[in-house]
Amino acid sequence: MTGRDRSHVIPDLDVARSGTRMWCEVKAYQRAVINRQHQLLVHGIKGAHYHDYLSVERETGTRVYIMIIELDSGVLLGAPLATLTTWPCLCEGCRSGRFCRAPISRGVYWSREQMVEVHRFPAGELSDLDMHDPVE
Ligand SMILES: [Zn+2]
Repeated sequence: MTGRDRSHVIPDLDVARSGTRMWCEVKAYQRAVINRQHQLLVHGIKGAHYHDYLSVERETGTRVYIMIIELDSGVLLGAPLATLTTWPCLCEGCRSGRFCRAPISRGVYWSREQMVEVHRFPAGELSDLDMHDPVE
């Protein structure tokens, strides 16, 4: 999406039904990861994309939802992105202003518990999908 000042990465899906419209960004991760500082299970996305999606929400007046499929648990989680309490990457590289060492480069993270379980796939249904790293 190209705005007046710059262009934004847009979420994966533009969904509409019965007069309600929403943007949807869908990620497939193997599992939630433990954040040592906060002692929480967390999910995250690239910081640049996070800020772009919030800009898309402001520009379009349409809510952006983040949806995460956890392959290990078989759970689909969802939340309105703008409602999440987030923090930036806390890796040594980011804290010292050098190169980010996390799997998600310069990510933005939030606690898993802020998301709602939208669906639970039957055990084994997602096991054919084998992803060891976050998928962008
Ligand atoms: Zn980092």
